[in-house]
Amino acid sequence: MTIRLRGHHLLCLLGYRGMGYSDEFCVNMTAIYETLRTKPETEVEIITGPDDICRAYPPDKTYHCEGTVYGLDERILAKLGLAPHERSSWQDMCSRIAEKIVPEDIARLCTTCPWEKYGVCREGVGFLIEGRPLPKAGG
Ligand code: SF4
Repeated sequence: MTIRLRGHHLLCLLGYRGMGYSDEFCVNMTAIYETLRTKPETEVEIITGPDDICRAYPPDKTYHCEGTVYGLDERILAKLGLAPHERSSWQDMCSRIAEKIVPEDIARLCTTCPWEKYGVCREGVGFLIEGRPLPKAGG
């Protein structure tokens, strides 16, 4: 099984605590998050544009999976030294994040994100740096 992720979702997953855009969106994101959390050897492929998380974005909300978030994907991939089509285990992606990013980078990178203010993404980066496991989704 390979989970396809766009650049910025590598970081969003670190802050996932069960909040999202709709029930269906959260069911999908929880399944992805819990797969990666409990089976960190799972392969992740970096892709450009809408990914396995975007596919459950609710049709009745303002669609934002195209457009300006491409710039965010690019900034985050550049910071991590990753590029589209690269594949590696989730564990290796997390090690790379811990090496290349500090919690304060989230506020610098994600200037337009409505979730940034909750602090969970920077907390997630901190967990990786400290070698602590990510919490169970919603727990
Ligand atoms: S602040 Fe927003 S875009 Fe940045 S990692 Fe968190 S959820 Fe993703």
